[in-house]
Amino acid sequence: MSHSHHEAMLYKRENGAKVKCSLCARRCQISEDAPGFCLVRRNEGGTLYTLNYGKAVSAAVDPIGKKPLSHFNPGSLVLSVAAAGCNFRCQFCDNWMISQDRETPGNDMPPEEIVKAAQNAGCQGISYTYTEPTIFFEYAYDTAKLAKEAGLFNTFVTNGYMTPEAVRTIGPYLDAVTVDFKGGADPDFYKSVMAVPDVKPIFEALKEFRLNGVHIELTNLVVPKIGDSPGKIRKLAAWIHDNLGADTPLHMLRFHPDYKMTTIPAPSVKDMEMAVLTAKNQGLRYVYVGNVPGHAAENTYCPNCDTAVIRRDSFEITQWNLTEDNKCLVCGQQIPIKGRFYKNNLRFPYALF
Ligand code: SF4
Repeated sequence: MSHSHHEAMLYKRENGAKVKCSLCARRCQISEDAPGFCLVRRNEGGTLYTLNYGKAVSAAVDPIGKKPLSHFNPGSLVLSVAAAGCNFRCQFCDNWMISQDRETPGNDMPPEEIVKAAQNAGCQGISYTYTEPTIFFEYAYDTAKLAKEAGLFNTFVTNGYMTPEAVRTIGPYLDAVTVDFKGGADPDFYKSVMAVPDVKPIFEALKEFRLNGVHIELTNLVVPKIGDSPGKIRKLAAWIHDNLGADTPLHMLRFHPDYKMTTIPAPSVKDMEMAVLTAKNQGLRYVYVGNVPGHAAENTYCPNCDTAVIRRDSFEITQWNLTEDNKCLVCGQQIPIKGRFYKNNLRFPYALF
């Protein structure tokens, strides 16, 4: 196995040459010459090393809406970067070729090169995404620090299975986070389909993100029949409402068959609409639908007068009906959007005001 020797953050040496990793909620105890569950951290002689540092498996320019982030610098562009490995084992993984690879492939791309690439591509920020940024933490951390200095923002797209320590460490450099739930955060679904023992740490991490002032958006993958019922969505939405606030955007993502789960069909559009409605009925003001291009629930509506203040078509903004300080043009209602509108993601011709 070829890898660069970069010492890990957030671990402690235990008895003998064992180490305990406190990066993700698995908190692996790792024996000498063995990897952690994620396969990309390894104990060598009592020192924990990260094996994917500086090795990008993917780097691409994306609209921020694709993360998805709908209330954070709308229309901006991000450089999406990923490194190999994951701490989950989802049977429906979209990116399994890179997330479950134990050979830690990738192109050498040190943090300063990522920042340069983002600037050269005209991006306003960097997203650590596609695989799980928690398990390429050191790489993301060093890049995020440099990106901040260069005036770029940073966002994580994560399964949320991070320790509070990890959240506090990256917090000062992280501007926004998309935390992805699957199957309505049902513990049995997480256990049986994703090999995740417990969902509680995700909720703890979310509270910690909030305390650290990171902009939060959530997704929920709607998987038909498996662990996804209106009851689950109701419970998840109520938790979000009570702990993160009614203005927290929630995106209902439509499952599509992939990897080992190719026999389960995608939910119908009607199922997706039900999921959105169920979450809205818990008091959440901004619930979106994802993977249903052209659907009206891609738009942002003013909670006061119901004007479509941002119209979208998939990841593109097709109409912007807000003032410069993000107030509804019709009634003046303040819409909770962090940052400002960037026009560089518009499809032409576009309607501005
Ligand atoms: S990041 Fe998580 S899975 Fe990987 S070694 Fe640390 S605790 Fe284990």
